[in-house]
Amino acid sequence: MTDLPSLRESLEAHGLMAKKSFGQHFLLDLNITRKIVRLGGPFDGDVVIEVGPGPGGLTRALLETEARKVIAVEMDSRFIDLLGELNGVYGDRFEVIEGDATKIDEARSLADRNLTEAAHIVSNLPYNVGTPLLIKWLTGPWLPLSMTLMFQLEVALRVVAPVGDNDYGRLSVISQVLCDCQKIMDLPARAFTPPPKVDSAVVHLKPKAERPEPRVIRNLEKVTAAAFGQRRKMLRASLKSLGGEALLEKAGITPSERAEQVSPQDFLRLAHLI
Ligand code: SAM
Repeated sequence: MTDLPSLRESLEAHGLMAKKSFGQHFLLDLNITRKIVRLGGPFDGDVVIEVGPGPGGLTRALLETEARKVIAVEMDSRFIDLLGELNGVYGDRFEVIEGDATKIDEARSLADRNLTEAAHIVSNLPYNVGTPLLIKWLTGPWLPLSMTLMFQLEVALRVVAPVGDNDYGRLSVISQVLCDCQKIMDLPARAFTPPPKVDSAVVHLKPKAERPEPRVIRNLEKVTAAAFGQRRKMLRASLKSLGGEALLEKAGITPSERAEQVSPQDFLRLAHLI
């Protein structure tokens, strides 16, 4: 690490400022990025895909671990040269792909590099695409080994919310059916440069060993969209087009309940029965 300038010096040397349109709020304190990586790991011998490396604070912390390789996907072309400087220290253990993470085919990107399909995802996510990216990684077809993701606090709370909680919703159900989910760190807005309007938190998601088949995952997306799309309504009404009262009775769920009262496991049962 001693060969690298500080993150602030790197940004200055390349004349770079954060751009709002790319959701850029940087972590320039390596103590913080090292802590995120420590809590999200271990990554020993594995490949890590980092989305949105920006100036590379999380990237540097990842490269300090025993990860076999770090592949970073960055959409803002202004950062490519700056990130390339990491190759001077870490050689081909680091690679940056210029592109949009919402469109990238992770399985193909790994196969193209003769790497196994298994890789972790680590990201201080751009807020505007955080939820769509999480849904993409949760529902597949490519499945990460683990995900360590920084979200705005409100989204992090939705991911881990238990049934009945104010934050409990579609994202909680899909995340908790498919992964073990934990909020591992809170970060105040002032930890970022420039500070966003809201606080943030890091969530760790580990896909469960037993995964429902793709048909059931699609049904889970459907049934949660219908139930939480009209969350004030009783399920017998909101799920009418999917089987209504008969479906609910088959699943052993009271038709007068509302979406926020139904556990992830009960939603999974409904998804099996549709
Ligand atoms: N990881 C850096 C850090 O922690 O300091 C930067 C985090 S910043 C919140 C989000 C980063 O994601 C920015 O570098 C931004 O350019 C990049 N980004 C935004 N949208 C993206 C997308 N669709 N695909 C890949 N990167 C994206």
